[in-house]
Amino acid sequence: MIIAIDGPAASGKGTLGKRLAAHYGYRHLDTGLIYRAVAKAVLDAGHQLTDEAQAVAAAVALDTGQLESPDLKTDVMGQAASVVSAYPGVRAALFDFQRDFASHPPGAVLDGRDIGTIICPHAEVKIFVVASPEVRARRRTLEIVARGETADEAAVLDDIKKRDERDRNRAAAPLKAAPDAHLLDTSALDIEGAVRAAIDIVEAVRAGR
Ligand code: C5P
Repeated sequence: MIIAIDGPAASGKGTLGKRLAAHYGYRHLDTGLIYRAVAKAVLDAGHQLTDEAQAVAAAVALDTGQLESPDLKTDVMGQAASVVSAYPGVRAALFDFQRDFASHPPGAVLDGRDIGTIICPHAEVKIFVVASPEVRARRRTLEIVARGETADEAAVLDDIKKRDERDRNRAAAPLKAAPDAHLLDTSALDIEGAVRAAIDIVEAVRAGR
């Protein structure tokens, strides 16, 4: 079974997807990390994020075994990922890796922005996760503070709104729910509540409800 988790609040740094995958014994891929890794490769090589050809080259050369670096999780890298992920050539270069990851038994959970629409349109379960920008800003600020860094919640909120805007309005794989996705609003849920709600959705689909 393939479970696609998309939406502006999908990742939470992969926590919901990771927990769901652990529950079902499936493999998990936080696809945001691959776009973050491409952005980091471009910046590390001294190129501008606006250099589309370099971004595509970085995507083609990406070592997908190297997605664990904590450097990828910063807000700066999230914004940078949102720039390079708008290039169709970058998305095309990363397509086969994601498809292939999803295809192996016993099943996989992929989270991102275009899993239910483009990467795995035939996923058995699609969940589109939303939460208000204010709630997400609060969560992200707490995450940053927990890492021992300082964060300005208003600036975090501003970044979230900018990134959503860019992800929604780009021509290549814009952020939108698949018509057959189940909407999950986590604004009023903590992570345990979100995991339970996601499992309820999967079980309902499995039971044919
Ligand atoms: O989910 P995360 O914050 O790690 O994603 C970083 C950025 O990568 C997103 O804002 C989005 O622009 C891009 N992304 C994407 N498609 C995905 C996953 C992430 O375009 N499947």
